[in-house]
Amino acid sequence: MSWEQCIRVLGGWTGYEPGTVEVREADGQGPREVWIALDRRSSRYRCSGCGKLRPRYHDAEEREIRDLPILGVPVRLFLWRFRVACPTCGPRLEALEWLEPRSRVTRRMAEDVARLCRVLPIKHVAERCGLDWHTVKAIDKAWMLRTLPPLDMTGVTRLIMDEIAIHKGHRYATLIVDADTRKVLWVGKGRGREAVRPFFEAIGGEGRKGIRAVAMDMHAPFEVEVRAQCPGAEIVYDLFHVVMKYGREVIDRVRVDEANRLRKDKAARKLVKGSKWLLLANRENLAGQTQRVRLKELLEANQALMTVYLLRDDLKRLWGYTREGWARRAWEDWLARAMESGLTPLKTFARNLTKRIDGILAQCRWKLNTSILEGINNKAKVIKRMAYGFRDDDYFALKIRSAFPGNAR
Ligand SMILES: [Zn+2]
Repeated sequence: MSWEQCIRVLGGWTGYEPGTVEVREADGQGPREVWIALDRRSSRYRCSGCGKLRPRYHDAEEREIRDLPILGVPVRLFLWRFRVACPTCGPRLEALEWLEPRSRVTRRMAEDVARLCRVLPIKHVAERCGLDWHTVKAIDKAWMLRTLPPLDMTGVTRLIMDEIAIHKGHRYATLIVDADTRKVLWVGKGRGREAVRPFFEAIGGEGRKGIRAVAMDMHAPFEVEVRAQCPGAEIVYDLFHVVMKYGREVIDRVRVDEANRLRKDKAARKLVKGSKWLLLANRENLAGQTQRVRLKELLEANQALMTVYLLRDDLKRLWGYTREGWARRAWEDWLARAMESGLTPLKTFARNLTKRIDGILAQCRWKLNTSILEGINNKAKVIKRMAYGFRDDDYFALKIRSAFPGNAR
């Protein structure tokens, strides 16, 4: 096979054939490139409006399109892009299976760019492919829009809802996840009732009826909307948020109180003051022996911190029961210990939790595994870093959805 035949067969530029193919030598410092002029072969044009083949074109414009590199050398295509004279639709761009309507790269190159964007920051993909930042982002976005499946509520009965900050303090997204497949079904703009309402409208009456339980933060503003839209669904408060709240409102406040109490004992005060992350981290996440020993010494030396730390572990256990009676007894035991502790932040937290306890005990019936929330929160941070400087919330939503496509049911 000759070089030209090889290019023609592998190129697969339906409707066109390679004319002149030249390797542009670097003039000075610029890299080498393969330039391929594509000549029109077919004299029929498929209308992108109605899909029919038409014998005439309306006009044509010269285009420069990027394709995948050949043996590592970047490729540029030069061709005429036609607008079909369609008697039904009027002048319409010709539909080509290897090139999307407004794209400046071939479909296979777009696929390659999108695949790289799953693992690399936009900036690195741009450098690697010789494209600019905005082009890479646009390609990735268009690819996700085309390939992400439409919202499908078949078999969905249990949901997890959560809000995450896109830009600290002012831009938020609300996520709706299928608790069973761990697929991100929806990413709503903002937080609150309005953020989830379009989801309930999109799934219709049948979809709403199918939902039996929804896990969320105790203080999620969309709770009201869920109760209004799905009166048959039970609200479950998830472990992840309750434990985070406990860390903030109990452990950390007791730590500050203890540091103040130890004003006269400089060494002990320093130890307590510097222990914030040690106390708030999950025990499993503590790195290495040193941190575990430090935590042990800290807790042994400080009764108040020991109490709130152990009560955190026992609080987590409430989500492990399958029988509500046992869970309720464990809760009453927990509550009694909290009230007897003499620690004001702990007592306040326990009193507030009493009003919400049904939403915690509901977990016994629904066994909602919300550990995916931590994964999504971490992924969101990575996406923010990889798309450094982006201001596009739709892009963010698409990235989250494509990162959590879900498992088979
Ligand atoms: Zn047409």
